[in-house]
Amino acid sequence: MQNFELTQEFAANLDNNDSLKSFKDHFIIPPGKNNEPAIYLCGNSLGLQPKSAKSALESELEDWAQWGVEGHFHGKKPWFHYHKFLTKHAAAIAGGKEHEVVVMNHLTVNLHVLMFSFYRPTKKFNPETNSFEPQRYKIIMEAGAFPSDMYAVQSQVESQGFDYDDAVIELHPRQGEYTLRLEDILKAIDDAGDQLALSFFSGVQYYTGQLFNIPEITKAAHNVGAIAGFDLAHAAGNVPLNLHEWNVDFAAWCSYKYLNSGPGNVSGVFIHEKHGLNPETPRMAGWWGHKEDVRFLMKRGYVPEPGAAGWQMSNAPVFGMAVHLASLEIFEKAGGVPTLRKKSELLTAYLEFAIHEAMKHNSKLQFNIITPANASERGCQLSLLTDHNGKALFDYLMNHNVIGDWREPNVIRLAPVPLYNSFSDIYHLYELLVSF
Ligand SMILES: *Cc1c(COP(=O)(O)O)cnc(C)c1O
Repeated sequence: MQNFELTQEFAANLDNNDSLKSFKDHFIIPPGKNNEPAIYLCGNSLGLQPKSAKSALESELEDWAQWGVEGHFHGKKPWFHYHKFLTKHAAAIAGGKEHEVVVMNHLTVNLHVLMFSFYRPTKKFNPETNSFEPQRYKIIMEAGAFPSDMYAVQSQVESQGFDYDDAVIELHPRQGEYTLRLEDILKAIDDAGDQLALSFFSGVQYYTGQLFNIPEITKAAHNVGAIAGFDLAHAAGNVPLNLHEWNVDFAAWCSYKYLNSGPGNVSGVFIHEKHGLNPETPRMAGWWGHKEDVRFLMKRGYVPEPGAAGWQMSNAPVFGMAVHLASLEIFEKAGGVPTLRKKSELLTAYLEFAIHEAMKHNSKLQFNIITPANASERGCQLSLLTDHNGKALFDYLMNHNVIGDWREPNVIRLAPVPLYNSFSDIYHLYELLVSF
């Protein structure tokens, strides 16, 4: 552990040395109960509003007012090409090439769209029974995945005629442990062997905060001939990603958690160029993925745009995307996720230290941090598994202006976000914990 101290001066000193400290001013911090700004540790659930969001949205409303339908080709950012304004930024977040990413739809919708392309169970002929039998059809994922992911996977396997319990391998941590060991994941993938169609893990697990080893899992999946896909809802904007180099087949993420783009906003997807540039890759088609230069000829016969853009179905939801773009521009200004990550590791380590110290000083505080202690196995979030008074502690924090979130049955999630949280925020939380 670092040489941290829990004093106001020490925290203020860390803030003074923080090259990202001014980025807080790009965001609107909600007023807390006593009209002091809240200490917002909930960017894992809904990131804060960038101040630039409003004018970005207004600009599109103005173009609509000014141009009507002609706004598709006129105005400040013509809507016909709107997704392209985001591509560079989405590629930076994902660590992909520009033609490997596109912003479209919403996260769960995109999981379905991507599984349509990449969950392709195979059958083989068994001469003894004179029939086709399922061959490669299983999906492996972490147990306790975000419910939407479980439901999406369930409906996908069932739509192909399989039983969830047979087709889906859910990996549980070892007895007495809270997170999965990489060696166990790799072994389970290997054991599934040629029955495995798809490995589908989170990047950062929403409940435990564990960061999975994306490149190693991808390698293991490819080793047995399976596809490797990831849900990066809690990883995008939180940890550096290099999806192209890691050879990940596909991924999707939402824009409203660490990417600060507003409730229910659009999603991003990554499709590796080995699939995206292959016109044979099956996909759900719509007019917006049709080759751009002939899109408006309105002819029969679908011809996809090369790359991830060829997965678009509907025309761009410009209002949401305008806010997303405004937010992504802040990431660029800040030097990208790798720069944020340096502060993030320090901030989370300071939070971890504060929690351990507070427990030493207050016997009413009884919890286990279930997030891995190793910085390379987590993002910014820490998950506290609480004892009998966990909900009371959570309510106490909320009443004292600290916004975290509560996940049933007994976990408090706290996520200091490098763009808008400070070391003094953590110190303030420490003081509150000690006097609980
Ligand atoms: C937040 C989150 C979702 C939410 O999906 P939406 O379709 O945007 O509502 C899905 N999966 C995971 C892993 C998440 O963390």
